Amino acid sequence: SINVRNVSKRFGDFVALDDVSVSIPTGQLTALLGPSGGGKSTLLRIIAGLEQLDSGSIEIAGVDSTDIPARKRNVGFVFQHYAAFKHMTVERNVAFGLEIRKTPKAEVKRTVDELLSLVHLQQFAHRLPSQLSGGQRQRMALARALAVQPSVLLLDEPFGALDAKVRKELRDWLRRLHDEIPVTTVFVTHDQEEALEVADEIVVINEGRVEQIGSPDSLYDEPANEFVMGFLGPVT
Ligand code: ATP
Ligand code: MG
Repeated sequence: SINVRNVSKRFGDFVALDDVSVSIPTGQLTALLGPSGGGKSTLLRIIAGLEQLDSGSIEIAGVDSTDIPARKRNVGFVFQHYAAFKHMTVERNVAFGLEIRKTPKAEVKRTVDELLSLVHLQQFAHRLPSQLSGGQRQRMALARALAVQPSVLLLDEPFGALDAKVRKELRDWLRRLHDEIPVTTVFVTHDQEEALEVADEIVVINEGRVEQIGSPDSLYDEPANEFVMGFLGPVT
């Protein structure tokens, strides 16, 4: 689970997050949805510990993590443009987090094989990241983030740089992967359709404030205000 309690964050005079509270149950796939500049990435980075908060608290898997450094939070992170190790094969990239944790070789191999098969990259195990398509690279990124069994998985527009068709494929595929390995996941997107299709629950965030939290159906059927109605409105 993730509990964000009354989190505020300023950059100089600019209020990026204004008293944000969100509670995400264990195993849920949650979309953070909202327009550009609304504060989605800032909130995700605060959950990951990559950004300091001004006030409020962050609890991850029942532990108050507000003052715990990023590398000790057991959080998996995937960005829009994934930075893989360019000189390592796909297999080595996925294994990396386990190897630095001194995981026994046999266990590393088992985990990597299993994850590569789940993301359908077995036949690409010995390629370099530069020899993959954009969609395949993001699948590798997901496998790599999952390898160390994070308590939460944070995805910041992971498919944002891909074309519409591949985006749609990966979206369906993320849903299936999540059903297979139900790690508590927060998925940032500014794409309404993507959020409605993929998420168990959607947090609508705009100008640093939470506008509404609810299931895709409840948001669509009962938008809490004009903003949510307008933002979800154009979906056909
Ligand atoms: P997008 O969909 O475009 O990625 P977002 O919802 O992720 O937008 P954030 O990146 O969280 O938005 O940014 C929220 C606001 O905070 C923006 O106005 C941004 O300019 C500002 N901001 C973010 N990081 C910084 C920073 N390090 N210094 C100053 N302002 C920042
Ligand atoms: Mg962002």
